[in-house]
Amino acid sequence: MAVQQNKVSKSRRNNRRAHDALVAANPNECPNCGELKRPHHVCASCGYYDDREVVAQADEIDLEDDAA
Ligand SMILES: [Zn+2]
Repeated sequence: MAVQQNKVSKSRRNNRRAHDALVAANPNECPNCGELKRPHHVCASCGYYDDREVVAQADEIDLEDDAA
């Protein structure tokens, strides 16, 4: 087991933890559907990116045809 050589002071520990805070998300509004989406990511609700559909939505795919 690794054993530390020196006690970490409260000041040094707290200074290290000063950078541990989570940063809030910064969502953009989707230009296609208006839903909030992550910047530079495909819209999760409509599958659009940069004014075109890049991911087909699950409700638009007909699974019955694929089985035949
Ligand atoms: Zn969208």
